[in-house]
Amino acid sequence: MARSENGPPHSGGDALRVDRLHVAYGRSVQALRGVTVTVPASGIVTVLGANGAGKSTLLRAISGTLFLHHGAIEGGTVSYGGRTLNGRDSAAAVRAGIVQVPEGRRVFARLSVAENLQAGLLGTGGRRSARAREARDRVLELFPVLAEREHQRAGLLSGGEQQMLAIGRALMAGPRLLLLDEPSLGLAPRMVGRIAGVVREIARQGTAVLLVEQNAAVALDLADTAYVLDVGEVRLTGPAGDLARTDEVRRLYLGEHDAQAVDGAAREPAAATAGTAPARAAAPLRRWRG
Ligand code: ATP
Repeated sequence: MARSENGPPHSGGDALRVDRLHVAYGRSVQALRGVTVTVPASGIVTVLGANGAGKSTLLRAISGTLFLHHGAIEGGTVSYGGRTLNGRDSAAAVRAGIVQVPEGRRVFARLSVAENLQAGLLGTGGRRSARAREARDRVLELFPVLAEREHQRAGLLSGGEQQMLAIGRALMAGPRLLLLDEPSLGLAPRMVGRIAGVVREIARQGTAVLLVEQNAAVALDLADTAYVLDVGEVRLTGPAGDLARTDEVRRLYLGEHDAQAVDGAAREPAAATAGTAPARAAAPLRRWRG
């Protein structure tokens, strides 16, 4: 559906399309090479990969924040709802309905929880609108702990609560597509389970989610579709449940070093080196069930 950038909300048919994207930092670091990823208008898509695979770079390219990291798109396209986002800034992405929760839950530590949430309304046309009130109600319903701590400084929250606040702040802008960068990073398993439950609920309420994770067990459990990035390229893609059953994903990303897998790897040295992700990709052996 064609519409102006500041036009009415989408009809629900919008998809994000990343097509043969090449991204570089400076002249020497080629971070993404021909990456193609599609995120439908609803549901959860996850991008997995080891450190340095290019996951954050992909999110930065989508959210218009690459330039902040001295990176640039060198080829390919990012489009949302049929509109090209290449070369646009993060404000344009937000106006299009895409909001990113960056890695490391960067909340404003000295501001209160309420002020942090209000900051999520910047550029969305007013703090006192009915839409803003609705967004705040939605966030406090998803994260009741934020309602209890509304007047506390964000810096006093636990790591998990700060992650909730970072997600809540992003939701204040009313995104149609939420980009989540490693929401489970550094959190205790119990808190990871709570965050995962909320991500599932956010998607159920109709906000599409693109989830970047190193914790493959959590991500594959949540997502409908998964992509595995390996040194800047898409190595595997498919329904998350199918990928979770492949030997390669189980061995390299779910850390299932069972006898059979280890045997298999020992018997197939060529397969283990012919472009597969290196062993450093192994995620912590922890299966999450929410
Ligand atoms: P992690 O899980 O560690 O965050 P990642 O999969 O998100 O890893 P990226 O951070 O996207 O990977 O990094 C992809 C490649 O780009 C890596 O080689 C990384 O060193 C490089 N890179 C990332 N940011 C920059 C930057 N600002 N300047 C130069 N190189 C960068």
